Amino acid sequence: MENKHYINGGWRQAASSNRFSVINPATELVIQEVNAGNKEDIDAAVKAAREAFDNGAWSGLTGVERGAYLRKIGDIITRRTEELSQLEVLDNGKPYPEAKWDIEDTAGTFYYYATLAEELDKTPSQEIAVPDERFNSSVIKQPVGVAGAIIPWNFPMLMAAWKVAPALAAGCTMVLKPSEVTPLTALALADIAHEAGLPAGVLNIVTGLGHEAGKALSEHPDVDKLAFTGSVPTGSKIMATAAHDIKNISLELGGKSPFVIFEDCDIDKAVEWIMFGIFWNQGQVCSATSRVLVAKAIYPQLLQRLIEESQKIIIGPGDKEGVLLGPLVNHQQYQKVKEAIVRGVEEGATIAAGGERPTGFDQGYYLQPTILTDIAEDSWIWQEEIFGPVVCVKPFDTEQQAIMMANNSKFGLAAAVMSKDEARCERVAKAFRAGIVWINCSQPTFVEAPWGGMKRSGIGRELGRWGLENYLETKQITRFDNNQAWSWYIKK
Ligand code: NAD
Repeated sequence: MENKHYINGGWRQAASSNRFSVINPATELVIQEVNAGNKEDIDAAVKAAREAFDNGAWSGLTGVERGAYLRKIGDIITRRTEELSQLEVLDNGKPYPEAKWDIEDTAGTFYYYATLAEELDKTPSQEIAVPDERFNSSVIKQPVGVAGAIIPWNFPMLMAAWKVAPALAAGCTMVLKPSEVTPLTALALADIAHEAGLPAGVLNIVTGLGHEAGKALSEHPDVDKLAFTGSVPTGSKIMATAAHDIKNISLELGGKSPFVIFEDCDIDKAVEWIMFGIFWNQGQVCSATSRVLVAKAIYPQLLQRLIEESQKIIIGPGDKEGVLLGPLVNHQQYQKVKEAIVRGVEEGATIAAGGERPTGFDQGYYLQPTILTDIAEDSWIWQEEIFGPVVCVKPFDTEQQAIMMANNSKFGLAAAVMSKDEARCERVAKAFRAGIVWINCSQPTFVEAPWGGMKRSGIGRELGRWGLENYLETKQITRFDNNQAWSWYIKK
């Protein structure tokens, strides 16, 4: 696969021999060199996707036929779960059990959208009641066309599946550009699609850098739909670019999600969910509950337990049994998170736990689970996404104050609340300005439920039926009954 991209059903020679290194974050050693695709490669991929869409080779299939391909892809991923999980650990650094969840969920996403593709056949059109009996209106759904997908590095294969599976289910063809930080499982996905016998041009995968391949894909006039997951600054650039051609876009961006803990909760359970909410995947999770708001009555006690438990977290390479916290994804991310902690301290925050490279790790981008306290609400560290194992903890007095503090953010991806009082949980859940709300937990994600944010956390929803809608156009067809009279001036 050296200097090749998966285009039009095969591995095509890249336009240039420029490459970038893919690093194992646990050892800092190069795993592989991967081609840096350029505008020419993207052009070829979009051309293949365009032809495959326009000739009806894919959109002309029934939903059942498309679903069968998606099921096959799901089956091959399931068969290769072990190998793909290990590849994800190598490339991203996450602990093996988490990588295995990702791969199982990746297969699950293909199975789920296979079913939704099949269901599309059952409702080919929907009648619409119109207030004039001479007319009859109906609505049909059709694929948007050629979709471009640009994805991040935190859940490499799963993020690909969240876009590829619904797009193909809808009848779109696609060009996928994985993150340059973690492209390996996307390359494996090309082989998997090939083995599943996906028609040529339906799925094209081009590796490359954001400012080159990513930019070329987002600017391409033949791309009808852009689906992006990544940071707010890149999302903003993509939106500006898409504005040029009025492209259909969906954006899944960053977050600084709050977790409100009331005084009546079980402290041990709260500590478990807080830790999972911020330390799984090394905190490199868009929906990580990185701002924890704790009722004043239990603040000292809860903080103490959180510090103790965070210090028990086993740190190490993702392939070592028992490890809960692996290395951050690369040097750049490690530096960014370290600098964020320093900035927090400069602003007046206290490091209650962690903040350093753990002892005994000379190589690898390891960082202790970090807890910051004494933070001002308008401070940078409280307001900005850090994307690492760093949690900010702050006390609150009343429910009203907690809601105001939770919503005092430019982001609105996720939010969580914990209390034994169900009515209170419901009240707070409704008051959160966020697209995803967890009650008495944080992070569980199901392919059936919509995923996405309010405010600067993005536009649109992935997953569930909403994820399929992302790749469908709604078309109305209105018919006039020729046996009826019509004149320009008198409608009726
Ligand atoms: P990033 O924005 O740096 O990169 C994301 C992708 O965009 C990569 O493939 C990159 O190559 C590409 N890219 C970069 N510059 C580009 C440009 N000018 N034009 C086109 N493409 C370009 O983000 P990241 O560091 O890979 O990921 C971390 C971010 O992703 C965090 O902010 C996180 O919150 C967010 N994220 C959000 C979700 C969600 O569902 N909301 C899920 C995962 C990650």
